[in-house]
Amino acid sequence: MGHNRPMQIVRVTGWNIHLPYVEGVYRMSGDRVTTGMDAVVVRVTADDGTVGIGESGTVGVTFDSQHLPGQIAGISYLAPAILGMDPRSPQSVHRRMQATMTGHPYCKSPIDIAVWDLAARAAGQPLWQRLGADGPEPTPLYRPVQGTTPDEVRVKANERLAQGYRRLQVKVGDDPVVDARRVLAVRDAVGPDIVIFADANCGFSLSAARRFVGLLGPGGADVVLEQPCATLTDCAHLRSSWDGPMVMDENITSLAALIEAHRLGVADGVTVKLTRVGGITPAIVIREAAVELGIGVTVEDASGCNLADMTFAHVNASTPALRRVHTVDFDSWVTITHVTGPPARQGGSLVPDATLPGLGLELDMQFFGEPFVDVQR
Ligand SMILES: [Mg+2]
Repeated sequence: MGHNRPMQIVRVTGWNIHLPYVEGVYRMSGDRVTTGMDAVVVRVTADDGTVGIGESGTVGVTFDSQHLPGQIAGISYLAPAILGMDPRSPQSVHRRMQATMTGHPYCKSPIDIAVWDLAARAAGQPLWQRLGADGPEPTPLYRPVQGTTPDEVRVKANERLAQGYRRLQVKVGDDPVVDARRVLAVRDAVGPDIVIFADANCGFSLSAARRFVGLLGPGGADVVLEQPCATLTDCAHLRSSWDGPMVMDENITSLAALIEAHRLGVADGVTVKLTRVGGITPAIVIREAAVELGIGVTVEDASGCNLADMTFAHVNASTPALRRVHTVDFDSWVTITHVTGPPARQGGSLVPDATLPGLGLELDMQFFGEPFVDVQR
């Protein structure tokens, strides 16, 4: 048996990269339209030359209380604080970040992911194994169906099926009448066997949400309602009008929020976004609690590219199959592929590589210019 030699983080480097959408624009309720996503990629280097990489992105400045200028400032502030730490203890590095800066989880996420990648590489294990998965199991993908009219979403839904997706997300949260027509058009177009999530991204008032679910008719078109209103309280009030499945996304900011959502009966499922909660370390705490509570879990993020996809593949593989819901493949959304290695997407699922250590990917340096931070010990 070899001895446990010391290992230290000796360099932290961060870049930002803009990822334009393949389909031009992305729309959410409240006229929130973006033409691309901003991703931050962090590389953490150990004294023996082992590196780990992590990605975390934002969707403009209107999706969540996180944005690129904040990430650049926060990561630049946090990076020197983790120099000298042992990357094989990611929770320890995360505690150091918590002690260095209160809040701002979106700044901690890409660093935390990079440290987990490094820890798994140092152990010679794929990340899914380092996280305790049964194996490199697949996670099914969902894909948003964008479009403003029933006819547009009908066409788009069929395109998504042809692309291999079996789980669709229809954005709602504006006019409940128009939204209900669009959701019913998608249900009509794809038949009863395709999973449909109706995601309001917090957009409905309570009264609009009541109207929307009423217009779906008996059985609610068999959709899953995602984050209909902005607060857990309003989502809980909606329960008197909607007894179908409801999942929370934007409100799941912490373990405490998960427990409150469960107590209020609005969390048949939850979406844990790595950037929102602060990386893999807090995400797996929330995930394990959800699994124990019998809640379905999606681990994903707001933005990113194929490095983010591979992270979702590994973390979701470590969610027990019974509670693993679905996830997202951002590399299909954007025009750039900024890492090399095996693709995470296989058909309608993301699958982590069985044997490569860590996340199994390398940065394709042609896409990365001057780093916004590069500190060394
Ligand atoms: Mg959502």
